[in-house]
Amino acid sequence: MTTPCILCVAITGSVPTKAANPAVPISVEEQIESTHAAYEAGASICHAHVRNADETPSSDPEKFAALQEGLKKHCPDMIIQFSTGGRSGAGEARGGMLPLRPDMASLSVGSNNFPTRVYENPPQLVDWLAGEMRTYEVKPEIEAFDLSHIFKAAEMNKDGRIPGQLYVQFVMGVKNAMPVDREVFDFYIKTLSRLAPDALWCAAGIGPNQIVLNEWSIAAGGHTRAGLEDNVRLDKDTLAPSNAALIKRAADLCEKYERPVATPAQAREILGLRPA
Ligand SMILES: [Zn+2]
Repeated sequence: MTTPCILCVAITGSVPTKAANPAVPISVEEQIESTHAAYEAGASICHAHVRNADETPSSDPEKFAALQEGLKKHCPDMIIQFSTGGRSGAGEARGGMLPLRPDMASLSVGSNNFPTRVYENPPQLVDWLAGEMRTYEVKPEIEAFDLSHIFKAAEMNKDGRIPGQLYVQFVMGVKNAMPVDREVFDFYIKTLSRLAPDALWCAAGIGPNQIVLNEWSIAAGGHTRAGLEDNVRLDKDTLAPSNAALIKRAADLCEKYERPVATPAQAREILGLRPA
């Protein structure tokens, strides 16, 4: 298995707070510093949400712009991926940063339950977000929380709403959505390759399952995501000291399975992105 493995660091998210783990970066300055350490540890994609000073989620394009500028300066070739999913119910405000032309953005193509609410992705909003991504040449990373989302992504790829090679992330272990299940994971891979033979995939697990999905993905030839957005602990008794520590665990698994960790330049080539 020699395909380089792309490691994505999900630095902040919209949920974890400093009360859960003081290492969660909230201000743009903290986000840049935390991302830089993760970049040095092997991350080539930064998946980012932005927050207000009181830690509540924000969709302020100015905050995204400040983060983008800092990341370009300190992690020059890193792939920047903004989340359009962090503020369920916020409607088109969720895509207000797409005119900044980040390399990538997350795109959810269907609704499902989250731990305490409905994660709303009505068809009209999905089409609008996909359209903005085409307009601003932003590559979507499809977030598949359910099998039906893989079918939807393949349909949108076929009819041109999501042009080019699909990049799909299987998310497992979100409470009230798809649990971590090995047979379903294998079926996701099989189904995606049946519906969209040239598609690429990555996977993310929530909480203690982060390391499980990291290992399954690396061993199966996919790409993977780690970081404090999805998991704030190294184990039951130990908080993760940083995003970099979680990326380091994934990089160690790459070594175990003889997968080189993709450099940002290799990741850009694999994903068909413009050079930095
Ligand atoms: Zn996110």
